[in-house]
Amino acid sequence: MIIVMKDQATEKQIDEVIGWIESVGYKAHPSRGVERTIIGAVGDNRDKAILKYAESLPGVEKTMPILKPYKLASRESHEGDSVVNVGGISIGGPDFVVMAGPCSIESEEQLMESAYVVKKGGAQILRGGAYKPRTSPYSFQGMEEEGLKLLEKVRLRTSMPVVTEVVNPVDVDLVESYADMLQIGARNMRNYELLKAAGRAGAPVILKRAPGAPLRDWLLSAEYLLKYGDGRVVLCERGDSFGRGGLDLKLMERAMKATALPVIADPSHACGRREQVAAQALAAARAGADGVMIEAAADPSAALVDGRQTLGLKDFSALAKKLRALRK
Ligand code: PEP
Ligand code: MN
Repeated sequence: MIIVMKDQATEKQIDEVIGWIESVGYKAHPSRGVERTIIGAVGDNRDKAILKYAESLPGVEKTMPILKPYKLASRESHEGDSVVNVGGISIGGPDFVVMAGPCSIESEEQLMESAYVVKKGGAQILRGGAYKPRTSPYSFQGMEEEGLKLLEKVRLRTSMPVVTEVVNPVDVDLVESYADMLQIGARNMRNYELLKAAGRAGAPVILKRAPGAPLRDWLLSAEYLLKYGDGRVVLCERGDSFGRGGLDLKLMERAMKATALPVIADPSHACGRREQVAAQALAAARAGADGVMIEAAADPSAALVDGRQTLGLKDFSALAKKLRALRK
């Protein structure tokens, strides 16, 4: 259920409504817009029974049931677009955000040199995986906590906020202590215990769409993060196949209509080949994405993971420049 407050509702009335929602066993998720505040009340499905009573509370304009299976993720439960702040960078606002970096953190030198490529190209957020979910158990699995320490070092040296993947609920607090933003990868979109743990951590989270997942399932996974978390969720479209068949821009556009959450695209994992990354990134920007996540490194040919789709300095800078020009 959503409770729409009157334009003139006071802070005290808003607080009282929030208190009432919680007193009847629901969790209140207020969204304060420029003109009015709306409050999502999420609990079990007894919505209709309490709906009427909420309308009698001072300052309440009306109440509305949310018909979609995802409640907090649906556009109706948010006043305007949701803007997610990550270490001072706003995702979902007027600026197009570029996140970039190597697929995996492999050494201090590799990460620092790649951070230079990313910063020089004009990206705002550095990415790099310390925990890598690999198809083969024999492939490099990531540097784990040692990698997180390198990420923190580079974060301090470059002042760039960092995003990194977490694959296991028990590691959420550890990863969160080193990173500005958590990433939940395509393979883990349906790992509900991980989603709950990441939500509870209270850090901003990027949620990638699992290949083949319909919009409904993607948004229901986001709903886990929102139900347990503080609302700072960014969706990331990354294509329908691990065989790399390109972005699903139609589905991304439907997502942008269905939710107020920022939506970005990852053309690197969607394509799997660096020659195709720029065209897909530009197409996503033209379709209205709030940003892109791109694999870029100082020496793609030396990468232990995903080198084939990783851009070097020249290609990355050229793409970032085109993206800036396009979004001006
Ligand atoms: C990654 O970002 O390196 C990654 C593993 O992506 P995905 O979850 O989209 O495959
Ligand atoms: Mn990768």
